[in-house]
Amino acid sequence: MLLKDKVAFITGGSRGIGYEIARTFLSEGAHVYFSEIVDTPVSDELNQLAAKTGAKVACLTSNVTKEEDCIDVIKKVNEMAGRIDIVVNNAGITKDGLIFRMKADDWNAVISVNLTGAFFICREAANLMIKQRSGSIINMASVVGEIGNAGQVNYSASKGGLIALSKSLAREVATRGVRVNAIAPGFIKTAMTDALSEDQQAALLKTIPMNSMGMPKDVANAALFLAGDLSSYITGQVINVNGGMHMGGN
Ligand code: NAP
Repeated sequence: MLLKDKVAFITGGSRGIGYEIARTFLSEGAHVYFSEIVDTPVSDELNQLAAKTGAKVACLTSNVTKEEDCIDVIKKVNEMAGRIDIVVNNAGITKDGLIFRMKADDWNAVISVNLTGAFFICREAANLMIKQRSGSIINMASVVGEIGNAGQVNYSASKGGLIALSKSLAREVATRGVRVNAIAPGFIKTAMTDALSEDQQAALLKTIPMNSMGMPKDVANAALFLAGDLSSYITGQVINVNGGMHMGGN
């Protein structure tokens, strides 16, 4: 197993990509703690996976937009598990619209969850990991943080910012054994993309050389690679998981 006895913390792990990362990490022997804004029961499937390897799985109530929550949740996971080896900043939201009609609230809400929340969690986790002299932080960016997208100035700015945050933090903590990388998914089948109209989905499909949407498992596999020792000499990178939608450099 690739993550035997590693301790992982994932923000927003009850559905979509975060859930699949929790499932994948548990299957590989990790202890998994994830956060949700409201108290959410751990699914039978995750409990069964944990039982198979003797790992722990738990959901903690925490809102990434609240600094105190972020400080508390990292502290709590560390108290419960004794260390944190892997952190995945997965929580994310969209509030799409052309800039002409975008309200300040829509801008602030997206930046607050996707970028400021990740900053709080990164700061707390990095502080702990540099003392451990090891750790892997994975930030869930997006292809639109690299190439932009009409109707998503808030979301793409948050994801572009997250990529820059990841690279800067990677440089700050590299000598202490802590790695920081980003994943930039393309168009992945989850509730977030189900919200797009059929026309929007059809238009997006035309931009993907592989001509299909990705699945949460495709992103979880990239997270698995970045989380464990297979990527031990990789930091400050953006792994594109997008069916060829964007092939440029980082
Ligand atoms: P999703 O199905 O909408 O799930 C988002 C998760 O984030 C949910 O668990 C949600 O919790 C949680 N969350 C939202 N606000 C939060 C907050 N303030 N505090 C803590 N948790 C919060 O989205 P997804 O498609 O799995 O996306 C996961 C990540 O991948 C996001 O960062 C997204 O931007 C990124 N991404 C997705 C795609 C795609 O095509 N799906 C592409 C590129 C990047 P609740 O259940 O409580 O709402």
